[in-house]
Amino acid sequence: MSNPRRSQPPAPPEARANALAELLDEKRLIPAGFLDAVATNAEHEWSPRNGARVVARAWVDPEYRKRLLADATTACAELGYAGPQGEYMVALEDTPALHNVIVCTQCSCTAWPVLGLPPDWYKSPEYRARVVREPRRVLHEMGLDLPKSVSIRVWDTTAETRYMVLPLRPAGTEDWSEEQLAETVTREAMIGIALVSVVTSRE
Ligand code: FE
Repeated sequence: MSNPRRSQPPAPPEARANALAELLDEKRLIPAGFLDAVATNAEHEWSPRNGARVVARAWVDPEYRKRLLADATTACAELGYAGPQGEYMVALEDTPALHNVIVCTQCSCTAWPVLGLPPDWYKSPEYRARVVREPRRVLHEMGLDLPKSVSIRVWDTTAETRYMVLPLRPAGTEDWSEEQLAETVTREAMIGIALVSVVTSRE
């Protein structure tokens, strides 16, 4: 006998989310206002702009860079970035010979305070399964071709650790301000599927 429930398409995501929220509320499993607070934070507080400021600071301040690489949780908190999914953050340093990429093979964890909520592609089963097995090819498909001389290291998010990549500072930005530099850093670069690139006007 086939399961009749399986033959029905699932309800739209919004209806399922509402049903879940009602149930959590009804069973008093979450405090009043919790979901609204999460939604507000997700929209206004947890943003890759925060991580971009961390990266820019690390590029201009060697002492901050050292602190970030030694203890990213504390270094991010110095700039005011802390909170859920950021209790134990680790910054991964890109070098001319090593490129870091992050993934959560189990689900879709990111460091919310500095990266924001994960983008859809990061949550896709395909990215999660393939980037660990064939990172160079997946990066190529996502538009990033790295020279063979650059090693790629893929970091799988574990239960508690949340990673962010400290990308290479682009050439030609030596006299840029920290604010200008922060504008160049994308979420994709802090996940490791892109480099930070800038358009510099050179003669
Ligand atoms: Fe996850």
